[in-house]
Amino acid sequence: MLKEFSVDEVYMGRLEKDDDLLKELTKVVKNKNIQTGIIKVIGAVQQAKIGFYNQDKNEYEYKKFDREMEVVSCIGNISLMEGEPFIHAHIVLADEDGSCYGGHLAEGTKVFASEFYIQPLKGNKLERKHDEATQLTLW
Ligand code: ZN
Repeated sequence: MLKEFSVDEVYMGRLEKDDDLLKELTKVVKNKNIQTGIIKVIGAVQQAKIGFYNQDKNEYEYKKFDREMEVVSCIGNISLMEGEPFIHAHIVLADEDGSCYGGHLAEGTKVFASEFYIQPLKGNKLERKHDEATQLTLW
């Protein structure tokens, strides 16, 4: 499956210390009514919650890190889920030794500092629907 989009404006911004990374990014996207797009974030977090999709059980298993870490990379996309802008993002986090952990970004990831980039895309709506093969909600 391949979809074509065009690009226009780009947003760059910063979240505040103590913000919930995913919740605040979702607020930004909803405020700007961005229905389709690309999102990238770098920065640092005070704690994190990331998910791993167990393919046998068809459910997310979550891991919490109650410590400061660098956001080496966080990338994702914006689409519509039940008519609302929805961010699906994955994050790579590094500890003080540079060891990395990564997964599906979940609510419960607390910002220390966060610089984000959002690229809205113009074209057909990207809408999430239930996928029988994976039991995920995909576009
Ligand atoms: Zn994911």
